[in-house]
Amino acid sequence: MAEPFPAEGLLLEQARQAVLAALSAAPLVESLPLQEALGRLSAAPVLAAESVPGFRASILDGYAISTPEPPASGTRWQLVGRSAPGAPYGAELGAGEAIRILTGAPLPTGAQRVLPQEQVQCPTASTLELVEAVSDQPWIRAADEEASAGQQLLAAGTRLGAAELARLASCGISQLAVTVRPRLGLLITGDELIPPGERRPPGAIWESNGTLLESLLIRLGYPVAQRRVVADDPAALRLALQELAAGSDVVVSTGGVSAGDSDWIRPLLAELGEVAFWKLFLKPGRPFAFGSLQGPSGQAIPFFGLPGNPVAAAITALQLLWPALQQLEGAKPQLLPRFQLPLAQDLRRRAGRPELARARLHVDGSGVPMAWLEGSQASSRIGSLQEADLLLELPAEATQLAAGTLVWAQLLRLPIF
Ligand code: AMP
Ligand code: MG
Repeated sequence: MAEPFPAEGLLLEQARQAVLAALSAAPLVESLPLQEALGRLSAAPVLAAESVPGFRASILDGYAISTPEPPASGTRWQLVGRSAPGAPYGAELGAGEAIRILTGAPLPTGAQRVLPQEQVQCPTASTLELVEAVSDQPWIRAADEEASAGQQLLAAGTRLGAAELARLASCGISQLAVTVRPRLGLLITGDELIPPGERRPPGAIWESNGTLLESLLIRLGYPVAQRRVVADDPAALRLALQELAAGSDVVVSTGGVSAGDSDWIRPLLAELGEVAFWKLFLKPGRPFAFGSLQGPSGQAIPFFGLPGNPVAAAITALQLLWPALQQLEGAKPQLLPRFQLPLAQDLRRRAGRPELARARLHVDGSGVPMAWLEGSQASSRIGSLQEADLLLELPAEATQLAAGTLVWAQLLRLPIF
């Protein structure tokens, strides 16, 4: 039977488009306390109820006076009180009067300028004198510096990081609407797999893709809800796929998706749902299936059959599963930041598939960033992911790349804010 996909596999970009086109985003919405919303997606615009800080505040420790112009050195005022954060001066500030004021404290009505404490002295306990020339800077923070009443603090569909949440907190907001993340089911397959910590019979390997994918997905903001480890047995795999489809919004498997004797994933996907495409024209990551499983009420549950080789599993999860999860969450999928940078060394490779090579971001003595490849790029070597800062996009046909050649790189580091 002819297959509806190219024998050499889909280009990564085509595959990504096919995946995103197949998924409709209609995420549910839930209300969460601010403290639990980190990394989530806002479901509605958030407006400031009041202006923030809400009062004019001093930017430094000093003395507030009522004249807007910079006073001349030698000018004197009568000290009439004090304003500290949380303990404002209650009266209006008159001409010739000054108050002690601390950083962040409210300015009283009538105050128009703060004199830095370094530029004044107090000849008596109730007298203030300017002893230096002052600048034009009045050292006053506007009452709506952070936000004015009714201002939009963030739009619907904003990813909530530390800065977003802190700004909402600073505007008195303690709860907000976010979209619900897809529930993930993970199926780990292979006769050879035994749990780490157990003694290893000949030929067995310690199972690591579970740890790899679950950790990666937590970092990306999508914790795995259900996980099964199953041998290459079609009956057991069928059952596991059905169970995962019943309790998940997305099912992901690893291993068993090539065309070998014990690779059951693709035939089972065809039986329990639909294969949309199989195989990528990508190194690493050739064996890869995308489609859907039929859920208990007939709905299509998106299915991602990731390769068994760990590096290929991680890379295809990043390149194809991650954008899909974002879209299902209601976000416009964001990919890793891409930029060009020079190779630090000569590179020889065989022509073949487009490659995503793991590399370090090396910054030379004069501050120039470069890509440095180290060790084997085998898709079985998890060590190649360790300390990888970059995925280098090496073109299929490139066989010799000289040091200094500009290559496209994807940044594997997460943003802080
Ligand atoms: P497969 O795609 O099932 O043929 O697996 C390809 C390679 O990846 C084989 O060497 C497997 O032993 C290895 N592999 C598959 N699944 C895992 C796993 N969960 N943890 C570690 N290695 C795995
Ligand atoms: Mg296998």
